[in-house]
Amino acid sequence: MRVVFLDIDGVLNSDRYFTEHPWPAGASWWSADAIDPSAVALLEVLVARTGAEVVLSSSWRKRTTLDEINELLSARGLSKRVLSVTPSLYRTADGVRLTRGDEILAWLEAAREEGAVIERWVVLEDEEALGEVEKWCVRTEPSAGLTAGDVERAARMLEG
Ligand SMILES: [Mg+2]
Repeated sequence: MRVVFLDIDGVLNSDRYFTEHPWPAGASWWSADAIDPSAVALLEVLVARTGAEVVLSSSWRKRTTLDEINELLSARGLSKRVLSVTPSLYRTADGVRLTRGDEILAWLEAAREEGAVIERWVVLEDEEALGEVEKWCVRTEPSAGLTAGDVERAARMLEG
């Protein structure tokens, strides 16, 4: 099993997209309006090429249900369903603040405990700190969102 951990803001949308597509009056941020179909098309290329599952690591997972996020992404052109979301962790019992990277590691550990064999994984993320997970990250630029170059890099990391 291969896994893509997916951030949304700065990956599936960008400053460029919002400049080219002025925000509809009254629209909710957590809606299809905030998702760039051309970025979704690039994600589609990545998952089609690598067969990777998609796990949501974005803060959108705290504002939408898995069904809602799948409806939104489907409406924007993704044929693959998001498999699950990373857990929301804040601090350890000792008060150490946990990162999005820690949440990803926790998801991987839980999946492996349930018997999943995770061959390779990659994180698409623009700005959140990832700690030791950084070496599995393809950093996107919030100005541009996901690019064909990012997809190529991520695909090579997943293919090994
Ligand atoms: Mg982001």
